[in-house]
Amino acid sequence: MPDSSGPDFGNHETDINYLPYTDEVKAKTDHLYPKVANVIPELEWRAHAPFIAAINDLKKQKNAVILAHNYMTPEIFNCVGDFAGDSLQLAKEAARTDAEIIVQAGVHFMAETSKILCPEKTVLIPDLRAGCSLAASITGEDVRLLKQKYPGAPVVTYVNSTADVKAETDICCTSSNAVEVVEYAAKEFNADTVLFLPDQYLAKNVAAMTDIKIVTWAGACEVHERFSAEDIREIREGNPGVIVLAHPECPPDVLAEADFAGSTSGMSNYVKDNQPDHVVLITECSMSDNVALQNPGVNFVRPCNLCPHMKRISLPKILRALQTMEHKVEIDPEIIDKARVAIDRMIALPLVRQSMYTHERAPEVAAIEARV
Ligand code: SF4
Repeated sequence: MPDSSGPDFGNHETDINYLPYTDEVKAKTDHLYPKVANVIPELEWRAHAPFIAAINDLKKQKNAVILAHNYMTPEIFNCVGDFAGDSLQLAKEAARTDAEIIVQAGVHFMAETSKILCPEKTVLIPDLRAGCSLAASITGEDVRLLKQKYPGAPVVTYVNSTADVKAETDICCTSSNAVEVVEYAAKEFNADTVLFLPDQYLAKNVAAMTDIKIVTWAGACEVHERFSAEDIREIREGNPGVIVLAHPECPPDVLAEADFAGSTSGMSNYVKDNQPDHVVLITECSMSDNVALQNPGVNFVRPCNLCPHMKRISLPKILRALQTMEHKVEIDPEIIDKARVAIDRMIALPLVRQSMYTHERAPEVAAIEARV
């Protein structure tokens, strides 16, 4: 499992950092440039285009697909990604294709989710160090100890978690359906308390919208927890009339200042459906670039935080993964079977609410378990 602090786990840095921009490359990529021309200057494009051409050729030869998360840089998201979206959408799309190889342009827990949903396919992660502070905050052993401490309380786990943790989970959730999943779990397990892991801020934001008692964990996304309510007030002062959309991994006081809170898909759909004049997305930087490219009539205010783990994935590393078939994601079949149950239970639920709105009451979280 990767460590979010980024030590070298034996990952090979790519030795291909330059490929020439030839007439052949130009012919293969000219049709793609208009997709990203608003955010990538022509000179920079000439460095990306040879890799894009080589990756798209190799994908065809090897029957591979690339799953590109919303936080990937625009040249990856728009020019080599076959499916784009949040981690669960990506894995579900991959399961439907007849591709034999999946390259995960995202972080390690996302590649694990793809392997859980597509165990018969080869799943590659281009850089083993693409971890996640949230997923790294808790282990399967931690969950087993929590279950002993709160017997009878169902375990709801955010999909931003490792396969080991999902295997100890009753049902997974995303940031779009977390409230519904918590209420479903409490009803199904006849419980008044739910263990909601591992994101303490998402837990608080969910607790504000349900009467179920929630026990959580001291995990956090290092990108979203850095935003503050003061940041939002400053953005509004400098940009009168701006619409503020925030991800529910942000602290509750940030969401309280926002106009809308929703997952990456929820924010993207909000912009597409409402076409606000000015908008700011309180989330990872590349998300704004990618949503801006799809909504040229909307002006984006751009304060954002970069995810260092997502940014480990680059075109040269994706090319190398396809050439060398490294790094394969392997998970114990028993863990896959158990984790699959938790994901399938969530997928089987009808979705009622696609987004979270700002709070009408203060969140009440029963406990945060930094240690068990
Ligand atoms: S943005 Fe946050 S939750 Fe997503 S991979 Fe980066 S650290 Fe993890």
